Amino acid sequence: MVSNKRKIKNNRSKKKSFQIIAEKRINDLFERAYDFLEINKKYSNKCVMLARKISLRYKVSLTKQQKMLFCKKCGAYLYPHNTSRVRVSRGKIVILCLECKHISRYMYK
Ligand SMILES: [Zn+2]
Repeated sequence: MVSNKRKIKNNRSKKKSFQIIAEKRINDLFERAYDFLEINKKYSNKCVMLARKISLRYKVSLTKQQKMLFCKKCGAYLYPHNTSRVRVSRGKIVILCLECKHISRYMYK
């Protein structure tokens, strides 16, 4: 039987297509986390957790901005003035999670 759908020949291209879908989904989830920040904090935390899970499952690395948007300790969605505090000191960006008081530091150029 001949199907009209384009067949994916090898596993590598199949993997690549999954990764593209995963990337889109991750971006959508971060957007949704932002939209629900003021309405439902728990839901936006859940969105971020899901995005991280997807990135691990399909080996899609998050962008630098996305990595700065969640707490490494408790996994909460971090947004300046809302759930996190951002300061610059000694050539580093210091982000304080207001949920668990975890501090993460990033270099900047
Ligand atoms: Zn935290």
